[in-house]
Amino acid sequence: MRLFGHVDRDPGGLGMTGQRVRDRLVERLRAEGIRDPRVLDVMRQVPRHLFVDEGLESRAYEDTALPIGLGQTISQPYVVARMTEALLEHGTPRRVLEIGTGSGYQAAVLAPLVAEVYSVERIHRLLREARMRLRRIGAANVRARHDDGRLGWPEEAPFDAIIVTAAGERIEPALVSQLAAEGVLVAPVGPPSAQRLVRLRRTPAGELREDLGGVSFVPLLGGLA
Ligand code: SAH
Repeated sequence: MRLFGHVDRDPGGLGMTGQRVRDRLVERLRAEGIRDPRVLDVMRQVPRHLFVDEGLESRAYEDTALPIGLGQTISQPYVVARMTEALLEHGTPRRVLEIGTGSGYQAAVLAPLVAEVYSVERIHRLLREARMRLRRIGAANVRARHDDGRLGWPEEAPFDAIIVTAAGERIEPALVSQLAAEGVLVAPVGPPSAQRLVRLRRTPAGELREDLGGVSFVPLLGGLA
């Protein structure tokens, strides 16, 4: 798979952002249990170093969350891969809603895998920077908007999949109501010390909830900034 028109490559594969470093990250993700070849392929190709703050590029392919300013973080690659895999497991969604655009990295990972990505961010400055990065890598099928993501994006509903990248006390009912029949939602839920990654699926038999393990996300907050 060849992603986007432009990918910032380091042809020799040397350096802290080159192909060899990315390959090593993907090997690590595989060892940690990520199996979906589409997800591994995208993780290999999306230039995460373009989504972190200046000065942190050399750490972009470590498997850790990193600060993106304003108290927010770009998620750990393993968590991005795991959530993406969980969204794709029961069929490839066409239209995906993300809550918490942040750096734009998760949206960039989803973009080559689905038809349309809609992403909502409450902090205007982060949204602006994320839009610029997404444009730079040529991810043309991502639309991002400044709003309280707990309300979803009703004008564009229903969505085949919803991914929430900040932790709430509960799964927002407004988001569940914007899920298509047989849609899937993945979200971190719970207080800072005890968050669980939850997958909710709408099925003909009703809503199915699964616990996908412990995680650590910044909080889902109300209002705009
Ligand atoms: N998906 C992002 C992760 C960013 S961290 C990435 O790949 O970089 C979570 C983001 O959620 C932060 O940017 C935070 O500002 C945002 N957020 C928190 N509460 C929100 C809300 N109610 N609506 C929209 N965005 C929210």
